[in-house]
Amino acid sequence: MSKKIIDGKLVSANIREEIKKRTKVIKEKYSRVPGLAAVLVGEDPASQIYVRNKRKSCADVGIYSEEHKLSESTTQDELLELINKLNNDVNINGILVQLPLPNHIDESNILSSVASDKDVDGFHPINAGHLFEGKPEFIPCTPHGIIKMLEFYNIDIEGKNAVVLGRSNIVGKPAAILLLQKNATVTICHSRTKNLNHELKKADIIVAAIGKAHFVKKEMVKEGAVVIDVGINRLETGKLAGDVDFDQVQEIASFITPVPGGVGPMTITMLLWNTLISLEKSIG
Ligand code: NDP
Repeated sequence: MSKKIIDGKLVSANIREEIKKRTKVIKEKYSRVPGLAAVLVGEDPASQIYVRNKRKSCADVGIYSEEHKLSESTTQDELLELINKLNNDVNINGILVQLPLPNHIDESNILSSVASDKDVDGFHPINAGHLFEGKPEFIPCTPHGIIKMLEFYNIDIEGKNAVVLGRSNIVGKPAAILLLQKNATVTICHSRTKNLNHELKKADIIVAAIGKAHFVKKEMVKEGAVVIDVGINRLETGKLAGDVDFDQVQEIASFITPVPGGVGPMTITMLLWNTLISLEKSIG
């Protein structure tokens, strides 16, 4: 089977070009640029890197960004106060609260406090509801990026058996809903799934999002399947690895995403996309 590597950087670059163009047009016409506020609570090193990368990506396409770094001991009320301020800031079109939050903060309460029309992560219950109805306003970035990659490579979704491995609110569930809306026959697997190998082996499309390095092995995958690897796992060697055993699985997949360089860049790109869309909606 001749495999094709799905290049997330290439797909991203295409979409970022479009974002750049549209941002320039708005700037010329309305003297405004999309604005993203990133809120970071605590000192989690991975989160700090993610936020830095997001801000750099904003700058590359002409999106204004600002960072609000709060200490680990920030209270829920202090965080709510900041979000309220950002909700009312006309220069901010998107608010990103970097997860995970410290344990003493109620994550779902915070995510619901972001104005739904600035919820560029698509995590607000109102936006989850719109997505569920098939009338999305803001689609969560990682699953959205997955669909964009499949479309870019003209990979048929309709009528295919898609298996989503993982059922989180930010990746697994929305990925399953989007695939369903593209007329795939969708199975969602999780830690309590019986006969996981059997379910995976039926898949024409696999989306792996469980956070377990090299979990998906060659013998679990059907010849010719399309394999999308969302996982980001840090190995003891310091290297990053996906949830799929890339070296093995690439031998039988028709398309496969690498880690890094697959889904990761798409997630940031779709965040930029949602920030642009938010401004476009606000100016009509
Ligand atoms: P969560 O930890 O929230 O969810 C993991 C899911 O995997 C759960 O539904 C869990 O099942 C399931 N699971 C765990 N172990 C197994 C197993 N042995 N067999 C079957 N299912 C299992 O993770 P996220 O969805 O937030 O993230 C998943 C991965 O994707 C992580 O590696 C994360 O770093 C990465 N990620 C990458 C992004 C990117 O841009 N590339 C963006 C977001 C996440 P159960 O519900 O039963 O517990």
